[in-house]
Amino acid sequence: MRDALKIPKQGPVIALDGPAGTGKSTATKRLAERLRFVHVDTGALYRAVAYVLRTQGKWRSGDTEEERVAAEELARSIHLEFRFDSALLPMNRIYANGQDVTDHIRTPENSLAASGVSSLPGVRAALLGLQRRLGCQGRSILEGRDIGTVVFPDADVKFFLTASPEVRAKRRMAELQAQGGDLPSLQELQNQIVTRDQADASRAVAPLKQADDAILVDTTHLDLDAVVELLAKKVHERLGPIS
Ligand code: C5P
Repeated sequence: MRDALKIPKQGPVIALDGPAGTGKSTATKRLAERLRFVHVDTGALYRAVAYVLRTQGKWRSGDTEEERVAAEELARSIHLEFRFDSALLPMNRIYANGQDVTDHIRTPENSLAASGVSSLPGVRAALLGLQRRLGCQGRSILEGRDIGTVVFPDADVKFFLTASPEVRAKRRMAELQAQGGDLPSLQELQNQIVTRDQADASRAVAPLKQADDAILVDTTHLDLDAVVELLAKKVHERLGPIS
C-alpha cells in the first residue's frame, strides 16, 4: 500500500472528492475536457468489482465472511482498464477482464454493492496502485471519495463537492431517466443516497472525508456551468496558465 504512494507524479494531478449526486462526475468530465486532462472515475473501479462479483453469484448483501473474502480475492486478480474517449466511444468506458461493463454498473443494486465492496480494506488496497498509476501519468483529474486524503495526498489541487440530499436525489433521478428502465421513487432515491453516504463516511478505512487542504464547493444552488467555471478558476489560481 505504501509502495503505491511512492510512484512519482509526471505532471499535475487534481483530486475531486465528494458524495454521489453533487455533480462530481459531470463536472469532472467537463473540467477534464476544458483543461485537456485525463478523467479517472475511480468509483467505476469499485462498481466494476461489485458487478463482476454479482454476476458470479459471489455477492448478495456482503454480510458473510465468504462474500468478503471473495471480494478481496477478486479485487486482487481482476484486470480493470479504462478506454478513453474517441469518435467511436462517446464516454470513458471501463473494461473488466476484457469485457465492457460500463452500461451495467450504475443500477441502484450495483451502487449499493459497490459501496459494500469499497468498505473492505483488501479491496481498497488492491485498487490503490492502479489509481495511483493512472493519476501519476500527469495531467489527470481523479474523482472519488478518498483521492485527496489517501490516493493522492500530494495532489496539486483538491476539491470537495457537497450538495443537499434533496438536490442530489433529483439529479440522480434525472440521470436514471436519461438511461431508461425502471425508476425508483424520489424518496427511495434520497434514502439510498443517505444510506450510502453514512456507509461511506463511517467505514473504518478511507472514509468519505474532506482533506484539510481541499477547497469546499457547495453545488446545491449552482448549475453545472457555474460549478465548472468555479473549479477551472481555482485550478488556474493554483497552477497558473495550463497550455
Ligand atoms: O462515485 P461513485 O458513486 O460511482 O462510487 C461508487 C461507490 O464506490 C461509492 O458509493 C463509494 O462507496 C465507492 N468509492 C470509494 N472510493 C472512491 C470512489 C468510490 O469508496 N475513491
